[in-house]
Amino acid sequence: MVSLFYPELCAVCRSNLRPTEQVICIECRHELPYTAFHRDPANPMARQLWGRFAFESAAALVYFHKGSSVQGLIHQLKYRSKANIGECLGELYGRRLSAAGGYRIPDIIVPVPLHVSKQKKRGYNQSESFARGLSRSLGIPISSGNLLRRTATETQTRKTRFMRFRNVEDMFVVRNPEEFEGKHIVVADDVMTTGATVESCSIELLKIKNTRISILTIAFAE
Ligand SMILES: [Zn+2]
Repeated sequence: MVSLFYPELCAVCRSNLRPTEQVICIECRHELPYTAFHRDPANPMARQLWGRFAFESAAALVYFHKGSSVQGLIHQLKYRSKANIGECLGELYGRRLSAAGGYRIPDIIVPVPLHVSKQKKRGYNQSESFARGLSRSLGIPISSGNLLRRTATETQTRKTRFMRFRNVEDMFVVRNPEEFEGKHIVVADDVMTTGATVESCSIELLKIKNTRISILTIAFAE
């Protein structure tokens, strides 16, 4: 009944969604600036990460440009409690990856964790929303809670004691390494800009025996 009075609006163009549409209307889905990075192992995102850590593949669903519809979607996902945008884009991406054929589907999805305090404030982790959508459409499990972000104080303490560490290193810790042993792990994040965060996560995950890493993000900022 509620939807009769408050019809769901497309998260991009704000038009009324048809009963068969969810979150983003069909027209806006067609207009998204898709990257097709999953078909190109030497794509710009992978190139940006080359030589920083070992990975199988790195790809983003769409390009992130200032003032674009993608920026609007990411903003709503992060600051307007629209976790369903993350799930919608994750599901969309998983379907595209499965349909592409050549994409090597990993064993498990690990969303980049937020600081506990930040997640409490926001109520959810936007990367986990994206990961949930991916998990559904790729048919692989998600692990959220085994890779943890250190608290700012812990990081700070370590920084003063070991100045040689770069800022991005040592930010994450794995609670139970055995869960990831021998696994091909996809690290899922919302937007990749410098790649510092996914690098930091991956370095931590690669310390575990026989792990392989792939990266999937909603968007790639050039
Ligand atoms: Zn629309």
